[in-house]
Amino acid sequence: MQYFPIFLDLRGAPVLIVGGGAPAARKESLLREAGADVSVVAPEEFSPARLRNVRIVVAAADRGVNEKVAAASRAANVPVNVVDDASLSTFIVPAIVDRSPLVVAITSGGSAPMLAMRLRECVEALVDESWGRLAGFADRWRARIKKAMPDIAARRQFYDWLLAGPIASAVRAGREPEADEIMTARLSQSPDAQAGKVVLVGAGPGDPGLLTLHALRALQRADVILTDRLVSPAILAMARREAEVIDVGKAPEGHGARQGHINRLMVVHARRGRSVVRLKGGDPFIFGRGGEELEYLRRHGIAFEVVPGITAAVACAAYAGIPLTHRNHAQGLQFVTAHCRDSLDRMDWQGLARPGQTLAFYMGVGMLDALRDRLVAAGLSPATPATVVENGTHSRQRVVVTTLGALPDAARAQAITAPAMLFVGEVANFAADLNWFGASPAQVGGGLLALPAKAPVYRSA
Ligand code: SAH
Repeated sequence: MQYFPIFLDLRGAPVLIVGGGAPAARKESLLREAGADVSVVAPEEFSPARLRNVRIVVAAADRGVNEKVAAASRAANVPVNVVDDASLSTFIVPAIVDRSPLVVAITSGGSAPMLAMRLRECVEALVDESWGRLAGFADRWRARIKKAMPDIAARRQFYDWLLAGPIASAVRAGREPEADEIMTARLSQSPDAQAGKVVLVGAGPGDPGLLTLHALRALQRADVILTDRLVSPAILAMARREAEVIDVGKAPEGHGARQGHINRLMVVHARRGRSVVRLKGGDPFIFGRGGEELEYLRRHGIAFEVVPGITAAVACAAYAGIPLTHRNHAQGLQFVTAHCRDSLDRMDWQGLARPGQTLAFYMGVGMLDALRDRLVAAGLSPATPATVVENGTHSRQRVVVTTLGALPDAARAQAITAPAMLFVGEVANFAADLNWFGASPAQVGGGLLALPAKAPVYRSA
């Protein structure tokens, strides 16, 4: 570590700024916000005698004066910052995210200012304005919380609840009296009455950049995470380090038993007062059994929240350059699941074969022959564009652009496996031109159009 981070108490402290201009003015206003007693002197007025009793110095003049100020400050052991010149400085001023009383300071030590700025933007987005209010609120209650909960583990859990639950919502919405009431009630409860909560979180299709801020917050507050097979490791890596991660995606007992097991786990952990995240690929309410899980929680009196996620159809279409609706080609969109023969028998094929719409099939890779046969039998032309997106939004995403008639063979030729989305309709053909995720298309033998490198697009003859 090249620089040691500290936060200085400058209330009432004499601080000297040498120089003028915008940088000096910015530092001056920051320093005044921190309560410093700021004097600004013009470059020609500076002399080492000015440094007497000064707590810190900021130099924002020309190079010659800056060097003089830096040398004099070092000699007098007064910390000095020369604006935009780390080599002359004995301290640097970090980028900050001010949510007073919470302040986040970020520096790259001058080595990668753009990265530091980018990180600052991330923190800005993650830690919204309400954090400051919440911190002020927590500070007001701190002594009482400590008295009610001498045990540090209990207190930590309590703070998790404070940050995630109804208090945070009330404080965020500016209803502090309500937050005070909830707090009073909560502190007078016995610890086992303090039940946890389940947050049903959509993790999106895989690319961690497609998580919502709410999803990220829930992950970072979780005590227990019950995760599906489809959730990518990169997303789990963003969860709170202490969280217990339980993979409920590959229990061997068969689907019904597995769902029962998941339901029971949610309730057991929530009843222990833990903050449970039920993490699902895509969106929890789209072919994700989210509804059944909530009904179960409701029956067992467990509180819940739902954080929507970007569903595979929307994400895969976006990453493959398929506009799901288009003024000239598709006025509607159907999300369809095709995971077994039974489900195929129950589908409205006439409705699916209607022109002017896009069909987005989930879980259909094993059923491509049957899907094609039934759609064609219902009147959809075999020439209708059909595109398969395998491992959408992952670096190994593959896109096959073909027609409904050639679909099963094209998918077999490229050995497409789950997870994959199938799009049928005129817009599916846009992927041939608009696929952008990865390298640009190149012609290969046999009339295939392929994107090599990261994200191949295959076009069947
Ligand atoms: N709730 C999820 C869907 C679960 S069903 C959602 O909203 O996305 C599982 C099916 O989703 C898979 O069989 C596949 O058809 C699709 N799917 C999920 N992730 C995918 C991905 N990264 N690429 C392509 N298809 C995906």
